[in-house]
Amino acid sequence: MSTIEAGKPAGVFDFDGFLAHLNGEKFRDVHAAEFCKQTGFPRQRYDLLYSFADNLHKTLVTFAPNRFGWIYEGVVTASGRADVMVTQTAVTSLMLAILRIDPFFASKRLNLPSKENEDRFLQELYGKSYNPEFVELQEGLFDVLRELDGFLAIHIVTNSSDANVRKAIEKGDQRIFNLVTIRGDAKKYYVDPKWEGIKRVKMKIPGYGLDINLRRPKFYAKLEEILKENPKIVTAGGDIYPLDAAMFLELSQTDSRFQGITSFLMQTLYTPTAEAKFFKENNANGLFLITNLGQIPAILRERLNPS
Ligand SMILES: [Mg+2]
Repeated sequence: MSTIEAGKPAGVFDFDGFLAHLNGEKFRDVHAAEFCKQTGFPRQRYDLLYSFADNLHKTLVTFAPNRFGWIYEGVVTASGRADVMVTQTAVTSLMLAILRIDPFFASKRLNLPSKENEDRFLQELYGKSYNPEFVELQEGLFDVLRELDGFLAIHIVTNSSDANVRKAIEKGDQRIFNLVTIRGDAKKYYVDPKWEGIKRVKMKIPGYGLDINLRRPKFYAKLEEILKENPKIVTAGGDIYPLDAAMFLELSQTDSRFQGITSFLMQTLYTPTAEAKFFKENNANGLFLITNLGQIPAILRERLNPS
């Protein structure tokens, strides 16, 4: 009911990493098993190679965050270690590079994808390892949403599909369905530097070399859909700053429908230090770093009713 009430301001929340989280261990277990099955690499050696490549990747991302960022269609969209899935894919690509250059492994006749087929190989591996059953709702989610529903129209805007979100809610708490509108396939990672719906092309945050690209027309189109039903977007939340919050911060300065927005960043194992610091130091500008959803209602009530 709540979602069609006219006049309520909207909240735009990410799903994976914010309202829910992927069980990383389950995902990684399947990923590892599939990798070994496809390539013939021995499973009992996998963890050692993975941890070597993982450390190497961490270093590369620190030295050259753009070169080793999460690249989508040739443009950096977020940190190369933005979440479990992105990190797993990037580290696996490094593992393949190591296996290709080392003559010892080359002599083992592993079934490695060619350079040209690598993207497809990684895509398939991801597809086989991502199981919506591994997605778990955050603790206390229903209670937080019910409280927010008192003054917000809640939209879940996610890169995942509507079906995956539905599955996760169904096995968690069905009452959530009455409180939210699900808008899947948002493609927040899609950047088009030529699209002019947002004036500035990119921004940086202090102490961090990553280019934060602001021009995300597909995500923006989802926001326009929401603004047909709700007069303003007053809050947003997610776990990856460039995807879930940067565009809102920019729009809050240029578009009255986003003015005064409160953005929440959920701290995860993958949150870059600079992003966490940026959110901690900019509460006055509406940025809040949180570690659980229960922190949201009090902060919002105070910011929406300053009296
Ligand atoms: Mg997320």
